[in-house]
Amino acid sequence: MAVSVFDIFKVGIGPSSSHTVGPMRAANTFAADLAASPRFAEVTRVRAELFGSLGATGHGHGSESAVLLGLEGEEPATVDTDRTPVRAAQIRSEGRIVIDAAHGHGREIGFTDVDDLVLYRNKSLPFHPNGMTFTAWAGDEVVSERTFYSIGGGFVVEHGEDGHPAIVPDSTVVPYPFRTGKELLAQCSDNRMTIAEVTLANEEALHPGEDVREMLLHVYDVMHECVERGCSRSGVLPGGLHVRRRARRAYQDLVTRERFSQGKSQAAFDSMDWLTVWALAVNEENAAGGRIVTAPTNRAAGIVPAVAHFILRFVASGPDVDTGTPGVDRGDDDAIVDYLLTAGAIGAIYQQSASISGAEVGCQGEVGVACSMAAGGLAQVMGGSAAQVCNAAEIGLEHHLGLTCDPVGGLVQVPCIERNAVGAIKAVTSARLAMTGDGNQIVSLDQVMKTMMETGRDMKVKYKETARGGLAVNIVEC
Ligand code: SF4
Repeated sequence: MAVSVFDIFKVGIGPSSSHTVGPMRAANTFAADLAASPRFAEVTRVRAELFGSLGATGHGHGSESAVLLGLEGEEPATVDTDRTPVRAAQIRSEGRIVIDAAHGHGREIGFTDVDDLVLYRNKSLPFHPNGMTFTAWAGDEVVSERTFYSIGGGFVVEHGEDGHPAIVPDSTVVPYPFRTGKELLAQCSDNRMTIAEVTLANEEALHPGEDVREMLLHVYDVMHECVERGCSRSGVLPGGLHVRRRARRAYQDLVTRERFSQGKSQAAFDSMDWLTVWALAVNEENAAGGRIVTAPTNRAAGIVPAVAHFILRFVASGPDVDTGTPGVDRGDDDAIVDYLLTAGAIGAIYQQSASISGAEVGCQGEVGVACSMAAGGLAQVMGGSAAQVCNAAEIGLEHHLGLTCDPVGGLVQVPCIERNAVGAIKAVTSARLAMTGDGNQIVSLDQVMKTMMETGRDMKVKYKETARGGLAVNIVEC
């Protein structure tokens, strides 16, 4: 099964790929198939049940709104992010929902919060912590019941009849298949290609007739729009923690500082401060439920865009201080394409051979993986060999091993927003460290990935996105 970079970089909605994007996609699938069934006109009731981490922290992650809008046929990539909370509130207050409304042939039925949208705080399904069951009735008769798992990064699999998840393999044959770092390095060495070239050839096989380069630049454009929105909005983030947005103020301070007081001591912090601003901007937008590109998840979505902006400002195009924009001129598309291809290839390895789910392995699988992806992508743009790129990716994860997931209040604000800023800076350091060597590693990418999985398995459940351990229990909500 080939995982595309466009599976890793998906345009969606905040605040969480596993708790918002995945549930919306699952609900959408259930509703669309129900609408296509011959019994649709008889349906009188639909119920959604959320288990495990979805049940425990779904409220703070917007899972309820995502499920309701998904049942109405909305999709993460196209749903109006400003309308989502408004429509979800309307469904709940009016007690009516229109199943598959987005496709023009919806069926309006009654809906009650208490009975029809159930979050189990202490009940899990066997395969994965993020389970969902949807049931539809015609009168007293169940006409459809299906269970899905949101396995991270917006990926959804369905529970199969044999009790195992039903994963439909992508049968497309790619020219340079790989599932591990070792296999990727072998493809590069056997074919004398860079990681970006290997990935581009595979993507062209997965997307015949499409302009992969333009698709990647579109991904970057959405990331850039997200940065711009984050740098222009102020106020308090939703959810009750009273977390103030900081990106706008930090951005304005930075622009002013660069224009008027290029003092030596401050200039030393410039690139670090820009990385921080860009990451904060994305993660604040994510926490507010805005338009986001998973990279590889929503909650770790600030690192890859921050390093992309870093590349264009400080590595590829040079400083662009005169424009005052948080971003860049678009002078070096090649750098962005190579960066995203390489970061996406590394993300695909984690998705196929390890995990990108905080509920499964803790934050090492989210912020750690995002840092690893960005570090590898940056090393590629800096002219690194395939071995140096994998070394950068390995360093990026190695120094996140053991990192727990303990979001305060079940929200994706503390520690997630700052954690992305720090992760972006670590990504740059990882790439720089890798570029000082020749790619020979004591620890390989596959070994660090295996270590992450073993550490994740040993981690207590309370540290895996349940908001029952760590910071989540030591910070008093007001
Ligand atoms: S702590 Fe890390 S893994 Fe947990 S929600 Fe925040 S970013 Fe994701």
